[in-house]
Amino acid sequence: MLRASLIAASRSRRLRGIAERSALVGRVVDRFVAGKDAPTAVATVRGLARERLVTLDLLGEDTRDERQAEQTAEAYEHLLARLADEGLTDRVEVSVKLSALGQALGRDGDKIALDNARRICDAAAAAGTTVTVDMEDHTTTDATLQTVQDLRVDFPWVGAVLQAYLRRTEGDCVALSGPGSRIRLCKGAYDEPASVAYRSKQEVDASYVRCLRILMNGDGYPMVATHDPRLITIAEHLAGQAGRTEFDFEFQMLHGVREQEQQRLAHAGRRIRCYVPFGSQWYPYFMRRLAERPANLAFFLRSFVSTT
Ligand SMILES: Cc1cc2nc3c(=O)[nH]c(=O)nc-3n(C[C@H](O)[C@H](O)[C@H](O)COP(=O)(O)OP(=O)(O)OC[C@H]3O[C@@H](n4cnc5c(N)ncnc54)[C@H](O)[C@@H]3O)c2cc1C
Repeated sequence: MLRASLIAASRSRRLRGIAERSALVGRVVDRFVAGKDAPTAVATVRGLARERLVTLDLLGEDTRDERQAEQTAEAYEHLLARLADEGLTDRVEVSVKLSALGQALGRDGDKIALDNARRICDAAAAAGTTVTVDMEDHTTTDATLQTVQDLRVDFPWVGAVLQAYLRRTEGDCVALSGPGSRIRLCKGAYDEPASVAYRSKQEVDASYVRCLRILMNGDGYPMVATHDPRLITIAEHLAGQAGRTEFDFEFQMLHGVREQEQQRLAHAGRRIRCYVPFGSQWYPYFMRRLAERPANLAFFLRSFVSTT
């Protein structure tokens, strides 16, 4: 109930405007978001990249303005050039949301998003790194997977994301576990109806294990995006059973979440990639992080009260 309300609030443009302008809220957001601009984010990434891999995400989604979608693509081009100049692109890639690139712009949205995503992939290729396309709510799954398929014709290293809470995802894992296919498996962060998604933690976790087994036994490159200690242990077990070494899959976690576990995995020689978001449009991302864990909401409210 609380989760559904927070996710509903994450879509409110009015609350988004108020929150993104508030300095008080901004301080709490810093735990999850690596600054408002690229120089600040790149400074954070420089430190993290000494021991971890990174995927850098310029925050923004649900763009209703074609020019803004183009500006997002331009911002990624500059970001990738900067990462290359700093010699970081062997350890740092980027994540993109198609709704920030124009996917939600009506009938031509998919084409606009594809064209903008191609620009980013061109820049990533020139910089010597990769791109992973984030997955958003279930109404966009087919279009997003189609765009990934189109991008992979020229850029076979483009990563896709599958969400274990969706009932369809086992089938998608089978379809996308071919050679070279980079697949990030996460539980899923949106509030989806029971008609398309498992709703209980037990069902989602069981689906995650089934999907992971398919990906580990396949020929692609699984990216295990979870902070769940039980699923991390299971992933190591399934990777071993499938004969994968520590270089044949990676763990992924969010910036600001289970930091010690990220360090532990890095020190144990595992490939661990930190998802680092930055930018001024942090509100929907931040609200989804609150929705995932009620303790975050308490932390947020305590900080808010103590600073007012
Ligand atoms: C690298 C990465 C990329 C992602 N990309 C996408 C995407 O493209 N699309 C999408 O829908 N979702 C994405 N997600 C979010 C994901 O779907 C989940 O919502 C999120 O990871 C929480 O699920 P969990 O697997 O960590 O398990 P949970 O059962 O939610 O959490 C397990 C434990 O992890 C810790 N934890 C989890 N979340 C938090 C948090 N916010 N704050 C503090 N502690 C926490 C807690 O200790 C919790 O008990 C991504 C997640 C990661 C790690």
